[in-house]
Amino acid sequence: MNDNIKQGATGLIMNEPLLWEKGKKGRIGFSLPEADVDAYPLDESLVGHGPDFPDLSEVDVVRHYTCLSQWNFGVDTGMYPLGSCTMKYNPKTNERQAALPGFANAHPLLPQEMAQGVLKMIYDLERCLADITGLDAVTVQPTAGAHGELCGMLIFDSYHKSRGEKRSKIIVPDTAHGTNPASAALCEMKPVAVKSNENGILEPERIAAIMDEDTAGIMVTNPNTLGLFEENIKAIAGIVHGKGGLVYGDGANMNAVMGIVDMGRIGIDVLHLNLHKTFSTPHGGGGPGTGPVCVKKHLEPFLPIPRVIKQDEMYALREDFPQSIGRLHAFYGNVGVMLKAYSYILSMGPENLKKVSQLAVLNANYIKEKLKSTFHLAYDRPCMHECVFSDKIQQANKISTLDVAKRLMDYGFHPPTIYFPLVVNGAIMVEPTETECREDIDRFIEAMKAVAKEAEQNPDLLRNAPVTPKLNRLDETSAARKPCLTG
Ligand SMILES: *Cc1c(COP(=O)(O)O)cnc(C)c1O
Repeated sequence: MNDNIKQGATGLIMNEPLLWEKGKKGRIGFSLPEADVDAYPLDESLVGHGPDFPDLSEVDVVRHYTCLSQWNFGVDTGMYPLGSCTMKYNPKTNERQAALPGFANAHPLLPQEMAQGVLKMIYDLERCLADITGLDAVTVQPTAGAHGELCGMLIFDSYHKSRGEKRSKIIVPDTAHGTNPASAALCEMKPVAVKSNENGILEPERIAAIMDEDTAGIMVTNPNTLGLFEENIKAIAGIVHGKGGLVYGDGANMNAVMGIVDMGRIGIDVLHLNLHKTFSTPHGGGGPGTGPVCVKKHLEPFLPIPRVIKQDEMYALREDFPQSIGRLHAFYGNVGVMLKAYSYILSMGPENLKKVSQLAVLNANYIKEKLKSTFHLAYDRPCMHECVFSDKIQQANKISTLDVAKRLMDYGFHPPTIYFPLVVNGAIMVEPTETECREDIDRFIEAMKAVAKEAEQNPDLLRNAPVTPKLNRLDETSAARKPCLTG
């Protein structure tokens, strides 16, 4: 095909030149009215000749960016079975509620009496999250899961200091999320690793062997990153509490247990949630998030300020909490994300939130059962929201997890999470979520089976996959080390 014809909208391969290549001298996007004052020439020695912007019409620019926007993949375009990340579909009504002008245009410096709606929303959302987790008090100020972990570790530190202690270690299992040890290290606590047992969960005896009075507590991801529920959590919490420590729960996987597990009753003292996973904010690409931190009553005095309180039917922001760890973010955090979560929780109601978790778990177990004879299943037991396979069977044909993931793109699926968690060699971690229907999940299963067959019959094809997208197998190391940013 002639290159000129290829440029523009020819089928799915839309080759799009840079704006500089598209521009043509004299084209204009819009016209300014004739100036009614004399022109004032700028000193060229100071400003140079100005930036080298191309001349473009409005339609040139609109088509350029619309075209680029279609070279993307997200939950709005297809299934995104990314383990450890809950990439589920987010209902659009929640975006609409967050965009209501009364909320969207509220300035953070409005006097409190003029921001009652926003304050009530934050107050009510904190109450809802306390109900959902079974804990007593909540802050929605942290803006990511890892930010919530940092908040939690600062609370641990302040709690121990309030009892005249400085503890320097924290227990972090090998099935924790990678951000856990990093957050602890930021608070000058040394992470002490502990291995999970042959069933992929924690063993109380192993915790008892390392828990001492210089250990601030434990960080447990539950369900863990193998998608398994930590069945011994109560016994473990008892051991940690017995030595004066605290239990941190990484609740980023709450999508599996809403309305089912009461985090307070299983012994968790501090827990973070990811509103941008479980509660209807799209994530990926570094957009705004919220990592609320929920605590038991005795840790409430340490929560960050300002806090939203209710007094005589009015809502107010208060800073007079002398034991607080202080501020973690400008103003009150990401209010737009809170609004989407509030809208999601109210529109679903308690029964449907529970159903979300039941369906998320059912879907993951369905995939696990359907694929476990095709791909090696690392831990063959009932899973929660995600299941972890590996490339052990495909290795016989020298096909790796990476080849399988790349080939799935040719079948129209975003690849699952790969090579994580580290406890499974060549891990392929699949989290379908509750928002995929049976037919789409079946299509995914068929695609995985087809790829496994190709691994036996045509391994070279897999090694060169993907073959249909605009770009094929990338040299990811060079792409990171020597980025070429001009296309
Ligand atoms: C995503 C995730 C985190 C980190 O959350 P961010 O918002 O990306 O900082 C922590 N723990 C678990 C289990 C997660 O899945």
